[in-house]
Amino acid sequence: MPHNKIHEELSKKRTGKSFADLHDWMCGEVLTREEIAKRHSVTKVIDNLPYVRERWGDLGVQEYLYHIQDDFDRNLAVRLSKFMIRLPLLGLSLRIVAYMYHRLVHGLLSK
Ligand SMILES: [Zn+2]
Repeated sequence: MPHNKIHEELSKKRTGKSFADLHDWMCGEVLTREEIAKRHSVTKVIDNLPYVRERWGDLGVQEYLYHIQDDFDRNLAVRLSKFMIRLPLLGLSLRIVAYMYHRLVHGLLSK
């Protein structure tokens, strides 16, 4: 499912409206990376709120903040899943280090 479709469905569940144009304003395909970063940055929320409130009202402000939170949660989940994938590799690396340490110690003791 495309990224904004998820935001639209979540907005619809919360408010009854998809706020498709708000989510497009935040994550639209025509935006530059800088524009997307500015519209998602917690430090820019104060600057963006008057525009968002004027264009989409108080519910729009709510959905703007949920959009930022939902993206954060999604990114966290992606990072966690990437970390979980690396765990077996980490375990293997530790076993190799333990084996090399064992061989080194065994080699030193046998001299
Ligand atoms: Zn977004």
